[in-house]
Amino acid sequence: MCEEQTVSLVDVLQEDEELEEEASAVLAGSDSDHCSYPQGYVKRQALYACNTCTPKGGEAAGVCLACSYKCHEGHDLFELYTKRNFRCDCGNGKFKDLQCKLHPEKDEFNTLNKYSQNFFGSYCTCGRPYPDPDDQVEDEMIQCVVCEDWLHGRHLGCSVPDGVELQEMICEACMKKNPFLWVYAAHLAGPGAAATTAAAQQRADESDANRPPVATQVEEAVEPSPKRPRREAEPSCRLEELQAAAREAERRGAVFWPSAWRCRLCRCGACRARLSEAGVSFLLDESDTVLAYENKGKSSERTQQGSDPLMSALDNLNRVQQLEIIHGYNDMKSELKDFLQTFAAEGKVVTSDDIHHFFEQQSEKRRRESCT
Ligand SMILES: [Zn+2]
Ligand SMILES: [Zn+2]
Ligand SMILES: [Zn+2]
Ligand SMILES: [Zn+2]
Ligand SMILES: [Zn+2]
Ligand SMILES: [Zn+2]
Repeated sequence: MCEEQTVSLVDVLQEDEELEEEASAVLAGSDSDHCSYPQGYVKRQALYACNTCTPKGGEAAGVCLACSYKCHEGHDLFELYTKRNFRCDCGNGKFKDLQCKLHPEKDEFNTLNKYSQNFFGSYCTCGRPYPDPDDQVEDEMIQCVVCEDWLHGRHLGCSVPDGVELQEMICEACMKKNPFLWVYAAHLAGPGAAATTAAAQQRADESDANRPPVATQVEEAVEPSPKRPRREAEPSCRLEELQAAAREAERRGAVFWPSAWRCRLCRCGACRARLSEAGVSFLLDESDTVLAYENKGKSSERTQQGSDPLMSALDNLNRVQQLEIIHGYNDMKSELKDFLQTFAAEGKVVTSDDIHHFFEQQSEKRRRESCT
C-alpha cells in the first residue's frame, strides 16, 4: 500500500467490471429513490446510521439507502453495508427533530429491528470505529453472518482463509451461543477451521492437559455420509448422525464455512425448532446470504444500464474509498471525472497519491458540509 503505484490514465480508464459490480451490487439491491419502509422488514438492504441525528448515548436507529441520500444529506453517516430483516427508522420516534422527506408516516418504533454497536460506528470485539484513525495495521473487516457485526481479520481467533469473500463466517461469540454449530463445523468447515485447530492444538499442548481431545483428522474433513435424495423420507436427524460420528474440532475461534454449507444443515423438525428458538432460522435460507443479495443487485443492474468506464477505472481503491464512492456516488462521480480530465488534458499519469489526495479532499468537504 505504501509503495507508489503509477498508472496511466488509460490504465485507470480501462474496464474493470469487478469494482463496478461490487459498488453497484450494494446499491442495486436497494432502492435509491424510495424509502423502503412500506416494504416492511426487508429481507436484506443497504443501511446507514446517522451520527448527526441519533448520536451515541441516545437511541440506535437505521435508515434505508434512499433516506440516507434524501433525508440525511451532509450528515455524518455510518455505512452499515447490508443488514437483514430491518425496517427503515428514518424520522420515527427515535428521531427528535428530523422528518422523513420520503415516507413521513411511520409507526413510532420498529419493534423487530435489531441494533448493534455498528449503529454507533463501533465494530468488532475491540469496539473500534471503521475506518480507524489510530489503527495503521492493514486488515480486512469480515462480517459475521449471524450477528452481522464486522470483525478485524486479526481478531477472529482463527486464520483467515484465501478466497474469504466467497465464504461465510460466524464469529466465536455466535458459535458459542449456538453450540450445535460446532458439530457442523467439525465436518463442514474449510481450511480456516483446520488452521484454527492446528493453532489451538498447539495452545492446548502448551497449557491445558484436561482439555477434551482435539481431532487430528480435520485435513480429511470430507463429507462422510452419502447424500440422500431429498424426497426420500427423513426419519433420522443429520445433526445427530454427525454427532454420532464423534468428530470433534476445537471449540474456539470464528468459523469459515464453505459455499452452499447452509444446504447441508439438517432440516428435521427438531433442528428447525432449535434454529427458530435461537433466532437463526435464516441459516436454512440460501437467499438470505449477502452473496445472493449482491447477485440480485448485479443482475438487475446489468439489465438497467451498460457499464460505466469511470466506475470501472477505480480499481486501485481500498474498501474505505469504495464505500466513499458508494456513499456519495453521484456527486463524486462528476467531480472525479473533472479531476481525471485535468490529467488527461495535461498528458500526465495518475498516481495512487493523486487518487488518495482526491478522496481526502472529498471527505474533508463532507466534514465541512456536516458542520454547517
Ligand atoms: Zn427510509
Ligand atoms: Zn441524519
Ligand atoms: Zn427518510
Ligand atoms: Zn477488532
Ligand atoms: Zn457473530
Ligand atoms: Zn435434525
